[in-house]
Amino acid sequence: MFGKVLIANRGEIALRIQRACRELDIRTVAVHSEADTEAKYVKLADESVCIGPPAASGSYLNIPAIISAAEVTDAEAIHPGYGFLSENADFAEKAEKSGFVFIGPRPENIRLMGDKVNAKAAMIKAGVPCVPGSEGALPEDSAEIVKIARKVGYPVIIKAAGGGGGRGMREVHTEAALLNAVNLTRLEAQSAFSNPSVYIEKFLENPRHVEFQVLADEHRNAVHLGERDCSMQRRHQKIIEEAPAPDLPARLRERIGERCAEACRKIGYRGAGTFEFLYQNGEFFFIEMNTRVQVEHPVTEMITGIDIVQQQIRIAAGEKLPFRQREIEFRGHAIECRINAEDPYKFTASPGRIASYHPPGGPGIRVDSHIYAGYTIPPNYDSLIGKLIAYGATRDQAIRRMRIALSEMVIEGIQTNIALHRDLLHDSRFVRGGTSIHYLEQKLAHELNKGK
Ligand code: ADP
Repeated sequence: MFGKVLIANRGEIALRIQRACRELDIRTVAVHSEADTEAKYVKLADESVCIGPPAASGSYLNIPAIISAAEVTDAEAIHPGYGFLSENADFAEKAEKSGFVFIGPRPENIRLMGDKVNAKAAMIKAGVPCVPGSEGALPEDSAEIVKIARKVGYPVIIKAAGGGGGRGMREVHTEAALLNAVNLTRLEAQSAFSNPSVYIEKFLENPRHVEFQVLADEHRNAVHLGERDCSMQRRHQKIIEEAPAPDLPARLRERIGERCAEACRKIGYRGAGTFEFLYQNGEFFFIEMNTRVQVEHPVTEMITGIDIVQQQIRIAAGEKLPFRQREIEFRGHAIECRINAEDPYKFTASPGRIASYHPPGGPGIRVDSHIYAGYTIPPNYDSLIGKLIAYGATRDQAIRRMRIALSEMVIEGIQTNIALHRDLLHDSRFVRGGTSIHYLEQKLAHELNKGK
């Protein structure tokens, strides 16, 4: 096992990774920007190195600074967390060339999955069901594009091959709007992802977002840890996740989960990963693979008892997976609410000083967060400040525990979306389970109309 790991991230996930290292008796190096000097996880780490200014481009995305920090501290491995450099194949490659273990997949696998056109092609080859659409990237020729869209059938969605974070997508409902949408998406894709390549998919009208967690080791063993339902979204950003997905037939879970594990074996995947699907009318359609730990990994940890971050580290150290598929049991139900520093209904960011903080507790409650009373949330980064996770023997019990936890949780001095979560945990459609990815936006629009 490694003696020392550098954590190339910030916020709650930096603390989460640090805790996993501790349990494995690994010393930790926190790298941080000038905006995060006072952060709790920086002080808790065995060592810390300031790698640059508040703007992420100069710090958390600064590859040479992070590699130098690993060199001066004699770290053996680098954990990238999520976001920032976690899916940057060049970073993984440079880290390994400089003699560090990258805690994640091989660079060529990151690169393959980072291009959604290539990822889809690889999945079709591995027998994973995909959304119907263009075969590969769209050509330049307008007449060809029109022909392809007709064949797929309207409505369609234009997506950037290099897209991510919910950006670089455009719905098209009529042929008249097609070419303009393709051009706009290309321009956007070029400026945001430096890759103008776009493709077409059938736009699914009422799907749920259901994703499968996988773990694979260096020795071609791969398992799936079941699925998560992340349909509660706004602007393609998840806000509540749960495991298992409500009303998913056990045999379908086994079949799709096994396809994902098999795809990992076929491409020689290593580490933790997530296969994201849209799920509609009992059918799964692959949309993309994330080659990193996800924000919502705790709900899977709660129902399987497996520490996903610790497994990432063990796999990177060359260990074999300690379990086989049939030894993995799914028990109970877990729900996660993402706690964001933002206006609960207008969604504008609300950084600043936390005046008081009372985290909830009790049976089945887990809080993954780096905040404390007196902590100042810097304005430079994502608004996620913590995750509240409730576990229960049944979905009903998890919901009841989450309601209590939300009622206990107090964060003052800034605005948070706790009020929205309280609302949603009492929403009759959410309580029934199985709402589509459009549900939250429709509900918000409806309430806005009512003048709420
Ligand atoms: P990103 O990498 O930006 O997260 P994804 O491909 O994972 O992009 O898609 C993000 C979200 O966009 C999905 O969760 C879903 O809400 C919506 N979406 C993507 N593809 C389709 C589609 N073919 N039909 C309907 N909605 C889609």
